[in-house]
This record gives sequence, C-alpha cells and structure tokens, in this order.
Amino acid sequence: MKPSRPELESSEAGAPVGGAAPRPASNFIRDIILEDIRTGRFGGRVHTRFPPEPNGYLHIGHAKSICLNFGLAAEFGGKCNLRFDDTNPTKEESEYVESIIRDVRWLGFDWEDRLYYASDYFDQLYEWAVQLIKAGKAYVCDLSPEEIRAYRGTLTEPGRESPYRNRSVEENLALFERMRAGEFPNGARTLRAKIDMASPNLNLRDPVMYRILHAEHHRTGNTWCIYPMYDWAHGQSDSIEGITHSICTLEFEDHRPLYDWFLDQLGIHHPQQIEFDRLNLTYTVLSKRKLATLVERGYVRGWDDPRMPTLAGLRRRGYTPEAIRNFCARIGVSKTNGIVELGLLEHCLREDLNKRAPRVMAVLRPLKLVIENYPDGVVEEMEAINNPEDPSMGTRKVPFSRVLYIERDDFREDPPPQYYRLAPGREVRLRYAYFVKCTGVIKDERTGEVVEIRCTYDPATRGGNAPDGRKVKATIHWVSAAHAVEAEVRLYDQLFTRPIPGGEEDGRDFLADLNPNSLEVITGARLEPSLRAAEVGSRYQFERLGYFCVDPDSTPELPVFNRTVALKDTWAKIEKALKARQE
Ligand code: ATP
Ligand code: MG
Repeated sequence: MKPSRPELESSEAGAPVGGAAPRPASNFIRDIILEDIRTGRFGGRVHTRFPPEPNGYLHIGHAKSICLNFGLAAEFGGKCNLRFDDTNPTKEESEYVESIIRDVRWLGFDWEDRLYYASDYFDQLYEWAVQLIKAGKAYVCDLSPEEIRAYRGTLTEPGRESPYRNRSVEENLALFERMRAGEFPNGARTLRAKIDMASPNLNLRDPVMYRILHAEHHRTGNTWCIYPMYDWAHGQSDSIEGITHSICTLEFEDHRPLYDWFLDQLGIHHPQQIEFDRLNLTYTVLSKRKLATLVERGYVRGWDDPRMPTLAGLRRRGYTPEAIRNFCARIGVSKTNGIVELGLLEHCLREDLNKRAPRVMAVLRPLKLVIENYPDGVVEEMEAINNPEDPSMGTRKVPFSRVLYIERDDFREDPPPQYYRLAPGREVRLRYAYFVKCTGVIKDERTGEVVEIRCTYDPATRGGNAPDGRKVKATIHWVSAAHAVEAEVRLYDQLFTRPIPGGEEDGRDFLADLNPNSLEVITGARLEPSLRAAEVGSRYQFERLGYFCVDPDSTPELPVFNRTVALKDTWAKIEKALKARQE
C-alpha cells in the first residue's frame, strides 16, 4: 500500500463546509443506485443502513461508512437505519451502544425512529434456521471447532464432508431444539448450512450458522444459549429491514455468494450488496482490536483520548463534524484498498476552523517583558479582530499594561541569521498594540537563563504603525501579565512514528511504533482574559500557534486546552504542487 493522493479533479476541491453535508463526487455506488432507480428495481426505493458491532467506539473509518450510507439515502430521498450487529454476546457492552448513538448524532445524521438491533431478530432467525433444516439445507454437526477447521480444506484443497452431514431432518430438528434448550455445553455442536465442501469459495463450505454459547446477552439476557453467526445474521437482518443497498467493505465480497444463497433458499427480500474500500490512514491504526489494546494497556487515557482516531477522541481533540464529513466526501470510494494521508484529514480541519474559530492571543511558554517607559497602573483596551476571514465575527478588547508575557521562542539573546523577532537592540510590533524595542535582559544569577526582558515602547505607534513610516520585521503576540488566565495546554503529536504502524509484511508489533512523545503537557501557559470562561468544546485559533479547544478536564480555576492542530498545512503545499504540475 503506497500512500495515494486523490486526484484533484475527482476530489471535491472547495466542497462546502459548515451547514449541509458536502455532496460527494460521483462514484460507482451512486451509479448502481441511479441505475436501480431508473429500472424501477426495489420500486425506486433507496434504503441503506449503518451496522456497527457494539464492541468498541466508532472511528474515522466508520465515519466514511456513515457518511456514505446516510449521505446516499439523503441524496436519493431514501432512508438509513442504525442497526447494532449484536450477535456476539461476550464482547458487547452497553457503553459502546451509547457511544455509537452519541457519535453518529454528533456527525450530523438522523435515523429517526429506525434504531434496530440484530438481536431483535433472534426469533425470526431461529425460525428461518428451522426452515432450512426442514428443506434439508442445514444440519447439526458434532465436530469440534478445531475439527471443523481441519475438515474445511484450503484454497487449493477441497474440504471433507462432516460425518454428521447426512443426518435425517427429524434428527436435526430434535438436536437443534435441544441445542436451544441448553442441553449441550459450549462448542459441543453447531448448526451448519449444507452447501458444498468442494466449493472454491471457502465461505460456502458448509458454514456454521449457530454456535452454543452459554453467555448473557446485553439485550436478550439469558433467553438464548445459541447465537447466530455474523454471516447468518447479517444478510437476513438487511432483508427484514427492507434494505435495498447493503453497502459494506471489500472483505465481504467473498461472503456475498453465501448471503445470496441464504436469501435465495429462504425466498425473502434480497438487497443488493455493494462493497467499497476500507479507510486506512497513515500514522493511525483503525482496527477496533488494536484501539482496544491501546486503551486497555493504558497507552492512551481512554477511548476518547484526543490522540485516538475515534470520533470521541477527534471530538475531544477539537475536530468538527463538518471537517470530518468534508474529508469523507473528498476521499470518495473505490474498489481497491489504499491508504490516505493523515495530512488530508488535518487539512480539512484547518479549512473549517480557519473560517470559524475566533483568533485569540495565548502564550504557551511565558517570558516576562517589562516596558520601562509605560506608566505603572495604566491599562489600555486594545481592539483586536476576532477573525479576519469573517468580519461579521467582530472585534474584542484586550487589556494592555506595563508588564506582559511573550513567547519564550520570540526572543533570542544571540539571534541567528533569518531570525527577525525580538533581540537586544531590536524593535518589533506587539500585535494590536505598539512597537517595542529591547533595551536589556535580566538573568537568573545562578543559571544564566533570561528571566525578563526590558523594553521601551513608542507611544506614537499605537495600533501597530509608525507615523514616520519605519518598519519592523516581526509581529509577536503577548498577554498582559496582571490580566492573564493561567492554563494547562496539552500538545499532541501523531500516536505512531511510522506511516503504517507495525509495517505491512514483517508482522512487527504495531505497539513497537508508538510515538513516546505523542503528548506534551504545558503548565503555566497564559491566555488573554476573554478565555476565562471558555466553554468546554469551544475552539480557538491561538495566533501564530495553532487551533486549540477546551478540554472537559477544565475547571473554573484551571482551564485545560488541547492543541487540535498546528497551523502549518503540509497538505495545502501538496495540493499546490499537484495543481502546478497539472497546469
Ligand atoms: P474492525 O475490523 O475494526 O473490528 P469492523 O468492520 O468489524 O471493524 P463494524 O462495527 O462491524 O467494525 O463496522 C460497522 C461498519 O463500518 C461496517 O459496515 C464496516 O464495513 C464499516 N467500517 C469499519 N471500519 C471501516 C473503515 N476503516 N473504513 C470504512 N468503513 C469501515
Ligand atoms: Mg465487524
């Protein structure tokens, strides 16, 4: 898998952000649906579903599927259901169900009253299994799971028939009933479809339909001790709900003949299954098993850790639903698996936040700056623009006084070439305020570290321009020391150091590629006072630093901010280069 860059023409450059979901570029799934509408197949209906298994939190890959299923339904005036594929009792938890409901809503989609569970269909599935037994199409098998695997054959060798394959219908019915009644221990027997042990498609070699599992289910409790396999439940669940287009990821292509076989044997409504490529992202893992490992072993603080690619994590990080929907529209769908660059997701986020996030001034690593000729005790209110991209967002007042904090990085005692910010003897502009000139520094006697900068200001430069036309090479941000709000700021980096964590071929452990520096906590940051009561979840651009968002860990005494994303946009550069090459 090489990182692929969607062609500019086929991606929706400039797709609308904010408000309505962007319309995805045309693709093969839309073409199939359009053709079905034209021919009147399914009576012109379009009905899709998003079918998560509640065994983890939703991630950005699920968002692709959600946007696709809900988006297509909306585009064609159809419906989309939310259905929990909860056939596996030991793994599923209500916490996951609740998080999934919250996250799909947050992304901006509505299933109205169509929230379903595969477990709602357990009775119907059981009856259909009995129907197949009566038709001689299913049998109770006493082979152990290991034996079933051994009998299954390989891609190059046909399987062997189970010695129990030719039981009579009566015997099968009686045994299946006894399985249901709880007479046998876990794994003692299965119900299998009677298809073809020599089929080149392994999924058709008498697949297991039911297994015995004495386990409590989050919804059906102890009603059942046999549970349907995913392959037996999935297609029939779609059929029961009248789904027209059953959209799933490519690994289910080989299962389609089995789903077709079940539906045809039962003679029930037969949706069209369409497969598309799973989303893979560089520097990211999107397998629920791997994400669960990160949580369980404490490599992250939880499913909603801002470094996680889960929707809960992205939300906490400061992602907007609009940015994620726009990303999903831009990556499109295809019939081959590839990998999308994380930079594209971040680019979509910046594009959205640039328009919406108010600009503010914040100093992450404060260095004290004293203006010697500025009167003590005076406070001026400087007018600052909230967002130059959107004049309707207005202006605000920022207090200015004799003692300020500036960013430690914005001062060098011995400035290297190309460094234009503050240095001894040098003049710079304080954003929205005055020109100041550095007259000296005060150092810690013991360590030699600069602890304070002394400056003078030019009262004639109020607002940031000199009447005599003299220029400065840098504008730096600041906060007034007496007015500043102290905060904790959490800076995040990629969770993994390699584009494909664990690599592809060598079977290395993905945990070996964890980035040990994915979180840096800064205490003692100083923010302009307008951020004192910033609401949890609200997003800002800290001028010159990046986009930040208020974390739920915030308290009135100590606000906590997450860095959502830095300002530098590598993807914008890639796009520019691509465009230049095309011209
Ligand atoms: P995992 O392999 O991580 O357990 P899954 O596919 O089993 O993921 P489900 O809860 O079954 O997870 O997924 C619900 C839906 O989301 C499925 O239709 C699946 O195809 C889709 N989906 C899951 N992961 C991705 C992905 N990375 N890209 C696109 N769609 C995905
Ligand atoms: Mg699954």
